[in-house]
Amino acid sequence: MWFFRSPEIVFGEGALDRLSELQGHKALIVTDQNIARLGLVELVQAKLSPTGIETAVFAEVEPNPSLQTLRRGAQQAMSYEPDWIIGLGGGSCMDAAKSIWIQYERPDLEPDNVAPMGRLGLRQKAHLIAIPTTSGTGAEVTWPIVVTDLEQHCKVTVGHPENIPDLAIVDPILVNKLPALITADTGMDVLTHAVEGYTSQWHNDFSDGLCLKAIQLAFDYLPRAYDNGGDDPEARERMHNAATIAGLGFGNSMAAMAHALGHSMGAVLSIPHGRAVGLCLPYTIEFTVRGWLPTRYAEIARFLGLPAADEAEAAASLVEAIRALARRIGQPTTLRETGISAEEFEQKLPKLVDNAINDSAMIVGLRFPEDEDVGRVCRCIYEGECVDF
Ligand SMILES: [Zn+2]
Repeated sequence: MWFFRSPEIVFGEGALDRLSELQGHKALIVTDQNIARLGLVELVQAKLSPTGIETAVFAEVEPNPSLQTLRRGAQQAMSYEPDWIIGLGGGSCMDAAKSIWIQYERPDLEPDNVAPMGRLGLRQKAHLIAIPTTSGTGAEVTWPIVVTDLEQHCKVTVGHPENIPDLAIVDPILVNKLPALITADTGMDVLTHAVEGYTSQWHNDFSDGLCLKAIQLAFDYLPRAYDNGGDDPEARERMHNAATIAGLGFGNSMAAMAHALGHSMGAVLSIPHGRAVGLCLPYTIEFTVRGWLPTRYAEIARFLGLPAADEAEAAASLVEAIRALARRIGQPTTLRETGISAEEFEQKLPKLVDNAINDSAMIVGLRFPEDEDVGRVCRCIYEGECVDF
């Protein structure tokens, strides 16, 4: 038995107006300092004002939110007693909102101890709205929560299908002013979600079409969104849609090896999530196509009109297209290019490998790596030269 899960999704210009139709008493807006400075909290509050819903703001979410931050947010929810929780921001803010909501509903659960089994019994006190301000993570339509353990230098993924948001508001006005670098980083995340969602072992008929469409949108519109920013509203809107579509795709299948490696690089080497997974993606395709399980790169390559006589040629042309896109938008294609010295890389390689092997995304690719494979793939990503996988 399989499931397809999705919130209600409101998208396109004017989507934020959906807030004016809400009913309730109090909303807690979970966000970060940067979003608050940009005036986006006021924008949400203005849309809520006709409803009479009063608001409080928890603007302390940091990139890769720590357990301490999540507990502080939950304390504010407990004393404020909202009936709506609104995650406003990038993946960190939306994930923090999910975690704060769970703790508010279930104070007996620790934020790093929410497993996808049994029944959580959410929605007794509040409902959850997710409003992305980047076009990347897809966290507005997925339930896993990435929590950073600062002591262990690792990221753990927790969550339960019940904590998927009730409503996702995908309004391109919120990404109008994204800096080009963030557009590029988060855009590579979209592409990686879509490719991995299509090629993970848990791919299915419901997620496949979403992943293919998101891949196509990323190739077509990411360079334009990167070049022109808010001056190209069509590209902005299509990339914003692509992020949510890819989120629905991989959220209902699974991300794979590039995400296992990328999570590890984020925690150990502090590389932004999208940049890390986008950097790893071509290498993991090269690794996966040499395994013994049938892969699905030819279907993607044919959909994009790339040469794809067989899986090997398709994988090679897809890899080339991904690297060309990455270079086009100023993204690194090797770990060395990100500024990590050879000494630091060698020193942190064991931890990098250890985290990646223990990441839940590692087991669902179409080739399961041995421990020594992971080290070899990491070396290839550092140098940009691939030995035979
Ligand atoms: Zn991702």
